[in-house]
Amino acid sequence: MTTEPSLSPHAAELRAVLAAIMEQHRERWGDSNEWAALADFQRELGKAGWGAPQWPVEIGGRGLGVVDTLACDSEFARADAPNRVAVYGTNNVGPTIASFGTDEQKVHLSAMLSGDEFWCQGFSEPDFGSDLAGLRCRAEPTDDGFIVNGQKVWTSIGMHATHCMLLVRTDPDAAKHAGISALLVPMDTPGLTRRPIKQINGESEFAELFFEDMFVPRSALLGPLNEGWRITMATLGFERAGVISIAGKLASDIKEMTFSPEVASASATMRQEVVALYSNARILEWMGQKALANINDVAATGAVASLIKQTWSTLSKRFAEARCDLAGIDAVAGLAPEAGQGLLTSRASTIAGGTTEVMKNILGERNLGLPREPR
Ligand SMILES: Cc1cc2nc3c(=O)[nH]c(=O)nc-3n(C[C@H](O)[C@H](O)[C@H](O)COP(=O)(O)OP(=O)(O)OC[C@H]3O[C@@H](n4cnc5c(N)ncnc54)[C@H](O)[C@@H]3O)c2cc1C
Repeated sequence: MTTEPSLSPHAAELRAVLAAIMEQHRERWGDSNEWAALADFQRELGKAGWGAPQWPVEIGGRGLGVVDTLACDSEFARADAPNRVAVYGTNNVGPTIASFGTDEQKVHLSAMLSGDEFWCQGFSEPDFGSDLAGLRCRAEPTDDGFIVNGQKVWTSIGMHATHCMLLVRTDPDAAKHAGISALLVPMDTPGLTRRPIKQINGESEFAELFFEDMFVPRSALLGPLNEGWRITMATLGFERAGVISIAGKLASDIKEMTFSPEVASASATMRQEVVALYSNARILEWMGQKALANINDVAATGAVASLIKQTWSTLSKRFAEARCDLAGIDAVAGLAPEAGQGLLTSRASTIAGGTTEVMKNILGERNLGLPREPR
């Protein structure tokens, strides 16, 4: 008989909270993935005090460290809870505002927690994704603010978000990394239009954003003028723990598949692939533990996080392919939609949060000390 490892007090409390929230949520929304259902779940979490448990207590969180946060992430997976659509705010933009924002800007933090505001990140542009520092969306400073013209693309939750952390070029004459600023922009600002991007899996999780003479007041500037790159690096750094969490989830999904009856009765080739996936899942878990052990060492964690991201993304694709192979015709006939959709969705894993090639560059240059590519 296997016994479950003992639950931390935080995870135990969240388990009880989620049981209550999920019962009502399912009654109201079933398994709906509509925005209204996802937003409602987020609001219920906020009401129960679990909107952003990793935030310090002073700003409305529960002050959880990375280990406790990961244990709580497992509880969300265990409860089969809906996607937490506020994560771009609570995981990335919120901590950035907490670090660099004015008192007036920090008011957004409580609105993120309560689910009154949903934040997106307007970083990538059609020609500047990996090479983010080349971005061209222009914000011309005026006496009392900025006039913004340009475009963003691949903005997650961009069709629903109420606010955006927007990266703009405020000094076109400065060196590439030196002329960028960050603005906090309500999505209903005149001059901003958004269009959905239809994906291969039929969904539209992203928007393209267009700015035409959009006026933004000076009070929207996050941190000092032209120091947006430093701020962006902080925002991307806050995603580190998120990488460890998604890797843990994948490792546990692979383990579950490995010991499933479908695999037991699959072909020898299929079983061989699943065993290979299982070994890689164990390595992924080990890397997660290594990252956790060094979580306060920023350089070491950054290095392991790049390695985890790289391993997680390639493994995600192989896992999705194996799941589809096991489901057979059901995956495309709509009888095992998770397998079919999972295959299509998994293609994004080697792009989001830094492409595989860029991750390899980082690992080669910063960790192995290989010569830098010419820029
Ligand atoms: C699921 C998902 C969510 C996303 N959410 C957001 C969001 O909320 N906000 C946002 O702003 N953006 C978001 N993005 C966009 C994402 O940040 C970019 O797609 C990513 O940075 C890659 O940029 P790109 O698409 O312009 O590709 P490119 O940078 O044009 O890359 C094209 C190809 O060239 C390769 N390449 C590029 N540079 C190098 C190099 N130096 N060396 C070797 N190969 C290279 C890449 O690996 C890739 O194969 C999201 C993307 C995905 C998939």
